[in-house]
Amino acid sequence: MSKQREQKRPLTTTDAGIPAPSDEYSLTAGPDGPVLLQDAYLNEKLAHFVRERVPDRVYHVKGGGAFGYFEVTADVTQWTKAAFLNKVGKRTPMLVRFSSVAGEEGYPDTDRDVRGFALKFYTEEGNYDMVGNDTPVFFMRDPMKFPDFIHSQERMPDTGLRSNNMQWDYWTLSPESAHQVMILMSDRGTPRTWRNMNGYSSSTYMWENAAGKKFWVKYHFKTEQSIQNFTDAEARAMRAEDLDYHRRDLWEAIARKDYPSWRLEMQIMPYEDAANYRFNPFDITKVWPHKDYPTIPIGRMVLDHNPENFFAQIVQAGFEVANFVPGIGPSPDRMVLGRMSAYGDSIRYRNGVNSDQLPVNRPLNEVHNYNKDGQMRFRHNGNQPVYAPNSYGGPRADPQRYHDPSWFVEAGEIMRSAYRPHAEDNDFVQPGTLYRQVMSPTDRDHLVGNIVWHLSQGVERFIQERAVKSYLSPIDPDLGARVAKGLGLEIMAEATASVGKVRRK
Ligand code: NDP
Repeated sequence: MSKQREQKRPLTTTDAGIPAPSDEYSLTAGPDGPVLLQDAYLNEKLAHFVRERVPDRVYHVKGGGAFGYFEVTADVTQWTKAAFLNKVGKRTPMLVRFSSVAGEEGYPDTDRDVRGFALKFYTEEGNYDMVGNDTPVFFMRDPMKFPDFIHSQERMPDTGLRSNNMQWDYWTLSPESAHQVMILMSDRGTPRTWRNMNGYSSSTYMWENAAGKKFWVKYHFKTEQSIQNFTDAEARAMRAEDLDYHRRDLWEAIARKDYPSWRLEMQIMPYEDAANYRFNPFDITKVWPHKDYPTIPIGRMVLDHNPENFFAQIVQAGFEVANFVPGIGPSPDRMVLGRMSAYGDSIRYRNGVNSDQLPVNRPLNEVHNYNKDGQMRFRHNGNQPVYAPNSYGGPRADPQRYHDPSWFVEAGEIMRSAYRPHAEDNDFVQPGTLYRQVMSPTDRDHLVGNIVWHLSQGVERFIQERAVKSYLSPIDPDLGARVAKGLGLEIMAEATASVGKVRRK
């Protein structure tokens, strides 16, 4: 180190700012004697060290992210009054966190999994968070099943190992998962990089314009780097080469100024269409076919700077499904409604009740309310009253200007029930369309190979049979027959092949 640099080095201090006694040696009784309990600096250093981890997210643990901006490219004021979308050319700072779902920190990035696509827009009317995925659908449509699903993807209680048997057992007993499993088992389940995948809101949300007119919307962030996937073999080879391949790729691309970008395209459904649309538009296991609701390009997201500190800005980043800004709201999608309470709860569990005061989570505008105290609180508004109503100039809500986004509910008796089915609601129709009309012959070959391999890794025969008979064959008899053949279930291969003739692209 140069003499000049040496002179500029700051002094090591304790966390209280007191000059530290040594970077090297503990306080001992003589050079060979015991370490003394009175070494307060050593105690502080070790105590801090053992508390370095905050609780992990329960899922979506392994991830990475970057900052950037969103730019409006089309006038959307006819559909929403959201201030950050109110002018073509307007830019809003953003944070994006990509992640895998099932693996822990340290897990290989390229393993087959759905990828999280969590967005935070730092708008002038507060933070707008959207917690999407790289798939347009999801495994279930009711939050009651969410913990069970996640448990089935994680580790066995006895061995501590992940289990394909557990995954297929859960999936094949939950037919609404078929659409998502088809995408997961296709090459889209192993994206080449985070830059080469799309992001979807998956859920349906509400937009409301300045006149109070409401629309149902779905967000599609289309990669401008093109969709690129690994084959199963390539993805598995990469886990041996580089566990952090996706995290590294994003960081390096931004560091070399090759800024990744996504075009935001919206599907917009008039409010009145929902009641009688052929599919339940709030069922997250289904898409809205493009020919019914074509996508409309409205903006562009660019990631152009890396975090300076991974823990402070990526690990501690909290994304709250309930963080909507005026002009945007939830829909009757039960998964959105369930996630609106669970995500805030998770952040409070991980970071504490004052998580929103951390720099990465803090909104750009000022916060005023009557919440007070709690662990690690450092924001205060001086001697502001801590109750409402008050006579001392405390903050005041304006219900005339800001109201909860709402929809008409034709309520019946309180009950536990499935959604009322729409005319074409069926768990196998849309995955069947994907197989027959969207996938190329190569996509289908890879899908079959991936499923056969996955079902061959420790899955019991009765679950393999159930997968072929009551899960894959109803999607498409040809798919069932090919998987049966690949698994050596010959009798079933004949049975499924005779179910029906298959329409090809
Ligand atoms: P379209 O032919 O209009 O759209 C099909 C879409 O599928 C494409 O635009 C593309 O969306 C996506 N896609 C293309 N190749 C694959 C693949 N190998 N694996 C997964 N998705 C792929 O038909 P529809 O809108 O009527 O949808 C037909 C089926 O396509 C659906 O049942 C669904 O399975 C799938 N799909 C539909 C989407 C939608 O929002 N309508 C979105 C994604 C998939 P993208 O540009 O988003 O990649």
